[in-house]
Amino acid sequence: MTTDLPPPHRIVILGGGTAGWLAAAWLCRALQMPDVTLVESGDIGIIGVGEGTFPTIRTTLAALGIGEAEFLVRADATFKQGVLFEGWSTGTDSYFHPFNLPVGGEDEALLPHWIADADPRRPAWADAVTVQEQVIRAGRGPKRPGDPDFSGPMNYAYHFDAPRFAAYMRDISIAAGVNRIEGTVARVERAEDGDIAALVLEDGRRVEGDFFLDCSGFRALLIGRELGAAFTSCASALFNDRALAVQVPYPSPEAPVRPYTLATAHEAGWTWDIGLTERRGVGYVYSSRHASQDEASATLHAYVGAKDGSLDPRLLKFECGYRETQWIGNCVAVGLSAGFFEPLESTGIMLIEAALKKIGDFLVPGDRTARNAAARSFNRLMAGRFERIVHFLKLHYCITRRTDTAYWRDNADAASVPEPLRDMLVQWRYRAPSRFDFLVDLETFLPPSYHYILYGMGFATCLPADVARHPGAAEARSTFARVRAAHAGACAALPDHRALLDHYRRQA
Ligand code: FAD
Repeated sequence: MTTDLPPPHRIVILGGGTAGWLAAAWLCRALQMPDVTLVESGDIGIIGVGEGTFPTIRTTLAALGIGEAEFLVRADATFKQGVLFEGWSTGTDSYFHPFNLPVGGEDEALLPHWIADADPRRPAWADAVTVQEQVIRAGRGPKRPGDPDFSGPMNYAYHFDAPRFAAYMRDISIAAGVNRIEGTVARVERAEDGDIAALVLEDGRRVEGDFFLDCSGFRALLIGRELGAAFTSCASALFNDRALAVQVPYPSPEAPVRPYTLATAHEAGWTWDIGLTERRGVGYVYSSRHASQDEASATLHAYVGAKDGSLDPRLLKFECGYRETQWIGNCVAVGLSAGFFEPLESTGIMLIEAALKKIGDFLVPGDRTARNAAARSFNRLMAGRFERIVHFLKLHYCITRRTDTAYWRDNADAASVPEPLRDMLVQWRYRAPSRFDFLVDLETFLPPSYHYILYGMGFATCLPADVARHPGAAEARSTFARVRAAHAGACAALPDHRALLDHYRRQA
């Protein structure tokens, strides 16, 4: 059976940041929508941060039909294989959250054997089940020059320059027929049924549409100001609400480029340190309740190794939270207008990708009843996804053993931990997390990521004494030995990260 009803024909995107231009590229190139208009304001500009991504970006880029070499060069991108956390548990510890799944995939059979192993020389969990930590510590890229686009032996994402990425998405969208309008929206016209009918620009121009994507950033001009979707704050769990960001040049053009994000804990927050080809992007994300801007600036200077006052960091203010209703009538929010937590684990761009993929599935021909039902489904799924990310991010903080500052003590205070996470943590003292603790389809971070954080942070699970006799002990020992034996070979088989980037630069 087929339907004669057309899908919404004229799509209007408000905003030309990462969300807006990635949406435009997705609609015109992946979904082949013929009538897409994007309105952006040069006066307002874009947020221009957001350099770390998640492995889903590879399938997104591949679906846009672009080549990996071209993308790497246009967006000044580098490879990211996970996040190295320094000082989060005790202040002097270090652990890696790799993108690789543990050997054996999501099968959890190995974990009890690792937990039960009392040998003090036991490797860290991530190191016991994947070679990726050794690979990044050796400065290797995730793939070899001849590997196909967007795949390689290691799981990976990218770091990129946010304005350059947005400009690249803009160019491919315009080449594919997207209509770009420069101007600032002054007001919104509504139809009788409450739908948005048109955006009216300051100079009086009207931009009509059948369906609108609100990619207007923190302003949330359509979904928030016009349509009134409420903002749910997560600040009681996720305290960070400020970032000071700087760009740091390399000492020489040949300096190594880290193939991972370095996330270092400080007194009242943490720094991200991201290696691009020509510079590092560094930022101190902190809680304004726990540090003044001067204190935060001093921390950033000390981290970068710069003389006090010699940097001119950019201050960004935000509140962690999201809108439970992201799709109302003929308008859906994508990007910062829908919500934002903090840069930890790079969820911003990944949530844009998740929204776009759902919009592609849900924005099909149908009557108003079907569209309203699609909106409710979308809202349930996206709100569920945002809520679960809060739990995963809070996990990084609440199991800390640091007590040196109020920031870390407050983060470990059970009152700041959402109840579902608290319930899990109590149980995980006596059993390892299993996939049945999660509604896996709503999770961005699957159980292996929880394992990497929990056991990387030194969380203690006390298994029943007879777990050592758990079936599969001999197989587990031999799997751990196999991973250990593969370390050196993996590092030898993969190229130096900068050499790999140079290879793509020559190819583009
Ligand atoms: P913006 O870039 O702010 O774009 C908004 C657009 O709307 C602009 O073009 C603006 O001109 C336009 N606009 C607004 N009002 C009007 C108007 N009235 N008329 C016309 N146009 C208008 N995400 C990650 O995935 N990884 C990270 O590492 C990461 N780090 C971050 C660090 C910080 C400190 C912050 C704050 C965010 C970070 N993010 C990160 C989130 C990421 O930056 C955003 O998800 C991403 O940039 C998308 O932003 P956006 O397009 O929604 O908004």
